[in-house]
Amino acid sequence: MDNNCLFCRIVAGEIPATVVHETDTTLAFRDIDPKAPVHVLVIPKEHHADVVTLAQNDPAGSADLLAACAVVAETEGLLMEGFRLLFNTGAYAGQEVFHVHAHVLGGEPLGPMLA
Ligand code: C5P
Repeated sequence: MDNNCLFCRIVAGEIPATVVHETDTTLAFRDIDPKAPVHVLVIPKEHHADVVTLAQNDPAGSADLLAACAVVAETEGLLMEGFRLLFNTGAYAGQEVFHVHAHVLGGEPLGPMLA
């Protein structure tokens, strides 16, 4: 755990979050500032700064994270209409929290990504 990391502190229960799914290795909670009717963040409990670091250092954890995203998409009712799965990676992409997180977005037509 990184004590300076917001999402590590959510994992530790030090900062509240609305948890929708949890496994031994992952946690999924509602984004505090949702950009769509469904906006869930899915994170590994272990600290990795971004998805590249996670993929390079923890292949099993990467698979766990994707599996958790799939469960969240299903339980949030997004499989029929579709959804967006997004990893902002690095400052140019707008990453603000440097603990890897997948954004699961859906619940309305999202339109073209770069419109
Ligand atoms: O990908 P990026 O790093 O920009 O996303 C961080 C996300 O974390 C934002 O969507 C923000 O609303 C969310 N957040 C949250 N709970 C917090 C702090 C930030 O859901 N306590």
